[in-house]
Amino acid sequence: MMLEGMSEPDRPNSEKMFALMMRSPDLVALFDPEDRLQAANPAYCAAYHCDPAQQLLWRDIMRTNYQNKRGPLIETEDIEAWLTDACARRATLPYRAFEAELHNGKWIWITETVSADGWMFFHASNISSLRASSRHLRKERDAARRESWTDALTGVPNRRYVMTRLEDWFEAQRLQQEFGTHSLAIVDLDNFKTLNDRFGHEFGDAVLTSFCRDAVSSIRPLDLFGRIGGEEFLFLMPNCPLEVAQNRLNLLQRMIRHPGHSAESADVTYSFSAGLVLVRDDKDIHHAIRRADKLMYRAKLEGRARVLC
Ligand code: GH3
Ligand code: MG
Ligand code: MG
Repeated sequence: MMLEGMSEPDRPNSEKMFALMMRSPDLVALFDPEDRLQAANPAYCAAYHCDPAQQLLWRDIMRTNYQNKRGPLIETEDIEAWLTDACARRATLPYRAFEAELHNGKWIWITETVSADGWMFFHASNISSLRASSRHLRKERDAARRESWTDALTGVPNRRYVMTRLEDWFEAQRLQQEFGTHSLAIVDLDNFKTLNDRFGHEFGDAVLTSFCRDAVSSIRPLDLFGRIGGEEFLFLMPNCPLEVAQNRLNLLQRMIRHPGHSAESADVTYSFSAGLVLVRDDKDIHHAIRRADKLMYRAKLEGRARVLC
């Protein structure tokens, strides 16, 4: 394996580094842009009970561990809701660091580094003996921070989080030599008021939650997705041409329109209208949002249940 940034003459060093990484008690892993585990050292495999040869999705590794009460400690009654929240937030920052607990009582300090093309390098070390006394305070602080960024109903990032991330992402893109091909969509559920009126507000809530789960299950880690209004959502798809983004949204449309695909909407189907644009190297990201918004309204006028770009 060649390590990025090391030229050919450095090969012996990169091999040494790789050999040491394999022997390290630290947890090391590599996920591809689809969020599949592509490489991991034995310490990671042991802690997360997985095998890179299976190329499992991160969310499937986490779900299996949760069900078997092993690996990372996930404190939730509803693993699907937890995964929706975690996947929506995963890899939306180039770097993040946080502490986590394992079922065996160990505490680890996790860092995640994401490359511009969506690969993620995971590293964790054992910090069980460090700063244990103030751990509950840090845990409370992290939970409060997470709450302020999360939409309470659906568990996906809220408007505040989406806009902050989007602005940061846009600034970072502008600093790159090449701006790249990135798609952005504004999605609004169709005739939602009628749905509420006919089936009740609680049913409407369940549809919103179901939509978010379907949307999050269809995004890549690098994508940003969140609820920016009542029944309005934003999708950012970095490194994704318009046609691919359109296909992905049409796929989501088919998924939610398939009757009985989820318990919440067993005999009701619904749809969305979306405006989809390429993000340009503009003064700010709000230009792109306005362009997408306009297209979304045109989609409504043209009969709804469609993606316009
Ligand atoms: P259009 O196809 O033109 O978008 O029609 P619409 O009915 O979806 O749009 P409109 O803006 O008239 O209504 C949006 C509705 O969404 C009104 C509001 O009650 C409902 N809504 C917003 N937030 C929530 C929520 O959290 N839960 C539920 N159940 N309904 C919500
Ligand atoms: Mg609507
Ligand atoms: Mg609306």
